[in-house]
Amino acid sequence: MTVPTITLNDGHTIPQLGFGVFLVDPKEAERIVSDALEVGYRHIDTAAIYKNEEGVGAAIAKSGIPRDELFITTKLWNDRHQKASAHTAIDESLDKLGLDHVDLYLTHWPTPAKDDYLEAWLALEEIKAAGKARSIGVSNHQVEHLEKLIAGSETVPAVNQIELHPAFAQRELRAFGAEHGIHIESWGPLGQGKYDLFGEQAVSAAAEAHGVTPAQVVIRWHLQNGLIVFPKSNSRERIAQNFDVFGFELSADEIASIDALDSGKRVGSHPDEVN
Ligand code: NAD
Repeated sequence: MTVPTITLNDGHTIPQLGFGVFLVDPKEAERIVSDALEVGYRHIDTAAIYKNEEGVGAAIAKSGIPRDELFITTKLWNDRHQKASAHTAIDESLDKLGLDHVDLYLTHWPTPAKDDYLEAWLALEEIKAAGKARSIGVSNHQVEHLEKLIAGSETVPAVNQIELHPAFAQRELRAFGAEHGIHIESWGPLGQGKYDLFGEQAVSAAAEAHGVTPAQVVIRWHLQNGLIVFPKSNSRERIAQNFDVFGFELSADEIASIDALDSGKRVGSHPDEVN
C-alpha cells in the first residue's frame, strides 16, 4: 500500500498518513510502534513530553527499515523555549530516538502567556541549520502566533499540528495555512474518542455504503481534505484498520455531510490556556 506524500514548503515530503503515540505507555511503545512499522506505517509522531521516544527509537532500530524511508516527528516541550534549553532538548530527543536528525521538529504549544514562542521558533531555525531537523514547524499555534513567527523570522513553519476532527474543523487556521504554505496536521483526528463521532449519521452511513468502519471513514475525510493525519491505537487490529484506507473514496456529498458536523467544539485544551 503506498501512502501519498505531501510536499512541504521547504521541499521535503511527508507521508500523509502516519501513526501517533500520545498516551502510548513508554513500556509498551517499542511493541506498539513495531506493530505499526510492520503494518506499513513509515511516519511516526511523538513528543518529548510523551516520554516514549526511547521506545520509538528501539522499534526503529529493531525494524531494520532504512532511515530514509522513515519520517519521524518529535516536539519541544513548553518549558524549553529558551534557546540554550531548546538545543539541549533536541540533543536529548535525538539520543533517545537513536537518530542523528528528525524529519520534523515542532514547538508543542505557543504558551502565549510566557511570550517566548518566537524565541523557541528562532531556536528551531538554528536546529534545522545544524542538520538536526530536516523540517521545522509548530503545533497548537493560532493565527496571531503564526503571524508573529512569520514577521519575526526567515522561515514560515512547514506545518501547524492542531486539534482537528469533524466537530472541530479549524476552518480559519486551514485557510491561513493554505494562504501561507503551512500544511495542517490533524491531532485527535478521531476526536480522541471523547464524543460519539462514529455514531453520527453522516459517518455511519458512509461506512455502511463503503463496507468500512466509521474510523476508516473519518481518516478518509482527513486525507481527502488534504490534511496530514496520524491516528493512535494500542491495538494491532485497529492500527492495521486505520492504515487500510486507500481502497475506497468518499463522494463529494459524503465529504460535505461530514463537513457539516463542524460545531466549533474542542475536545482538548485551548492553546491560550496551556503553559
Ligand atoms: P485520536 O483521535 O487518534 O484517538 C485515539 C483513540 O481513538 C484511541 O485511543 C482509540 O480509543 C480510538 N481509536 C483509534 N482507532 C480506532 C478504530 N479504528 N476504531 C475505534 N476507535 C479507534 O487521538 P490522539 O491519539 O490524541 O491523536 C493522534 C495523535 O496526534 C497523537 O497520538 C499524537 O501523536 C498527536 N497529538 C498531538 C497533540 C499536540 O498537542 N500536538 C495533542 C494530542 C495528540
